[in-house]
Amino acid sequence: MTPISSPQARIPRSPDEGFRLAELYKYKLLDTESDTDFDLLVVLAADICRAPYAFISLVDEDRVWAKAQFGAESASQVPRDDDYCSWAILENEILHVPDLTLDYRMANMSKTVGPPGYRMYCGANLITSTGQKVGTLCVLDTLPRSLSSEQQIKLVRLAKHVVNLMEARMRDLEYRSAVEDLSRLATRDELTGLLNRRALTQVLDHEGSRSRRFQSELSVLMIDIDHFKQVNDRYGHAIGDVVLRGVSHIVQAGIRGIDFASRYGGEELCVVLPGTDLVGAAKLAENLRRAVEVAVFRETPETIRVTVSIGIAAIHPLNTDINAILKMADVALYQAKSNGRNRVVVGHASGSAT
Ligand code: GH3
Ligand code: MG
Ligand code: MG
Repeated sequence: MTPISSPQARIPRSPDEGFRLAELYKYKLLDTESDTDFDLLVVLAADICRAPYAFISLVDEDRVWAKAQFGAESASQVPRDDDYCSWAILENEILHVPDLTLDYRMANMSKTVGPPGYRMYCGANLITSTGQKVGTLCVLDTLPRSLSSEQQIKLVRLAKHVVNLMEARMRDLEYRSAVEDLSRLATRDELTGLLNRRALTQVLDHEGSRSRRFQSELSVLMIDIDHFKQVNDRYGHAIGDVVLRGVSHIVQAGIRGIDFASRYGGEELCVVLPGTDLVGAAKLAENLRRAVEVAVFRETPETIRVTVSIGIAAIHPLNTDINAILKMADVALYQAKSNGRNRVVVGHASGSAT
């Protein structure tokens, strides 16, 4: 007599289980939201097989997770060693069990002995282009019965459509991430992660015209690292880069979500503060200056600290030209340098700085 397995008994894994899992993970489908296109395919599977239950099941390392289900209300995740699909993926194309109570591998599984009391199972494997079986398109019934060979052939065909849809979804993901990478490359400075000069120009155009239209405040900060050449000369360019990234990080972390931090050039950063007047901008600039002053960019063998000088300017009813504002902030920055560095200077429309 054939021994009856317990639900806890370990279902064999294929010899290339590692490759199989890697292939499954490539699709990034596990634990994703429901998707009407996958839902439609389980409805079709149920219809073709006249079955009350249908699933698109993905066989993960220790669980079987349903990407789509028809007829079932219960959890979409089952332990791998308690799921019929774990046996199905060991077959070539399809596993059909007309009466689960008569199959020693599945007679004792939770959903055979307990609710919903499945009797018939038929799972067509989801076989990817590399030949890996990552899951099944399966149908179930609570009555024992045999599917016709025509129904089984159709289920196998439909499983191929499931894989095609998985491939299409994966290509969508890859395309979207490539577009994101490209737009990141186009707008971000590679070293600091801040906006690059080109993106800054767009921000200034956009925010400048918004400020003019709504007569709202707009300030800019020009931030320059003091004696940065000495950092490079003393510790090398690579450490200089670390410091530059560190200062950029402090600036990015110290501004609001609606502000823009950019690398203006070399070791000079430009921050755009929409809706902020000179008083608010001066307060923020002082906070940034302090945050850089107290930061340690390297502990050993020698502590590395730097300071920054900051020039500020704001849009003004008499001066709404954004390039003039930038120039004014630059003049204020120059003043901060001449006044001894590590300080904030506010630029005024007259060209003077205080
Ligand atoms: P100051 O206080 O007047 O600003 O003095 P400074 O030494 O910072 O100014 P200076 O303009 O003389 O030197 C700026 C240095 O910044 C020179 C340049 O090599 C360095 N630098 C510019 N871009 C980078 C970068 O991406 N990485 C590193 N490591 N250094 C950079
Ligand atoms: Mg400098
Ligand atoms: Mg400089």
